[in-house]
Amino acid sequence: MSEQFEQGVAELGKQIDARISSYFSSCVHCGLCAEACLFYTETGDPRYTPIYKLEPMKKLWRQEHTISGKLAKTFGLSKPLQEQDFADWEELVYDSCTLCGRCSMVCPVGNDITYMISKEREGFSRAGYAPEGLKGATQRALEIGSPMGVTLKTVLATLAHVEKNTGLSVSVDQQGADYMTLFSSMEVVNFPEYIESIARIFDAGGVSWTISSKAFEATNSGIQIGNSDNAAEIVNRVVTAAEELGVKYVISPECGHAYTSIRWAGPNLIGRPYTFKVIHILELLEQLKQQGRIKFNGKTDEPVTFHDPCQIVRRGGVVEPQRDLLNSVAENFVEMTDHGVMNWCCGGGGGVSANERADELRAKAFDRKRRQIEETGVDTVVTACANCRMMLEDGIEENEMETTVIGLTELIADYLVTDAKEQPEVR
Ligand code: SF4
Ligand code: SF4
Repeated sequence: MSEQFEQGVAELGKQIDARISSYFSSCVHCGLCAEACLFYTETGDPRYTPIYKLEPMKKLWRQEHTISGKLAKTFGLSKPLQEQDFADWEELVYDSCTLCGRCSMVCPVGNDITYMISKEREGFSRAGYAPEGLKGATQRALEIGSPMGVTLKTVLATLAHVEKNTGLSVSVDQQGADYMTLFSSMEVVNFPEYIESIARIFDAGGVSWTISSKAFEATNSGIQIGNSDNAAEIVNRVVTAAEELGVKYVISPECGHAYTSIRWAGPNLIGRPYTFKVIHILELLEQLKQQGRIKFNGKTDEPVTFHDPCQIVRRGGVVEPQRDLLNSVAENFVEMTDHGVMNWCCGGGGGVSANERADELRAKAFDRKRRQIEETGVDTVVTACANCRMMLEDGIEENEMETTVIGLTELIADYLVTDAKEQPEVR
């Protein structure tokens, strides 16, 4: 048994808090969580039942926290965890879980299975049992500042293009700006139109904003791999930059897990509250609209549907702004079945998209999303997460669907009133 494995088991033991103990002891083995998980519904494989993904942690809990488990261990009736257990479960813990939170919504006794899987990942990653893709992404996030290896030089080059295309100037490191905005690497590399859109919207809405040269990356691979120390370091980078600039708000961009990481997990990770508030871009756009600071000119007559990113909606609590915004710029917004907090995951959250080994399984799981989209009868899917967008585009291509995917912020920017003469009075 390697020293690293022993450290992993010790870490797994440390993660079993009162909450997890109560979850394990209250499970009634009803199996309802299976029907909520796209990896189970799309494969029929019982190993993908959410609670089953927690067997190694459950074994340790029994042995350390129950009388029967302690006795069984003492008399040799229950063997300690072996490296093979971790090797066997690694795929279940990482490849077949996007931390989407859907299983937690249906458990009749209120077990937050997603929280439990995040905690289990802490033990697995410490033991070295994590996918290579996620290990690499986390290392790049710590060493370069971005899981995709995006550097400040690349960001500045993208901003120069944005300035050229919009005729607007984008400030970097502006002391005392109201808002500091973050981007996901995927936006910088694959969807720079998002950055262009917020530049145009913020200019129209008179928003005082800046970007930090020290912390522009929103994503947090430490959360995905399950390493709280790494996650805290990544959060701290943003917090330090925001506090140095003296901003009032940090804007989380169109990225799912970035939002839950910085808004909900962040203060616990660093052990203190922030001196600023975190706001999701959709919440800010909705506020600007409600305050009359941005207005729209016309609507698309193309029918559209919306894919709710799990971490923004189900785990993050941002449910209505996107609907109100969408109705402002689209004549015909068609909801998917199981929309909002019960929406189905794109299949690539929780680090699954960074894990090439999971590609085949992810493609199978996408069948749920394919059916959801096709049932709407609509050819345009709007979303608000760059990772979801990549996963949707991948799945659409693989399934040869005639579907277009766009970001909500871009759609908003397309219908924005930018001419000062057309701008309605702000009351
Ligand atoms: S969090 Fe989502 S992907 Fe993970 S086990 Fe639960 S339902 Fe399945
Ligand atoms: S839904 Fe809840 S109670 Fe039922 S098997 Fe899953 S974790 Fe246990």
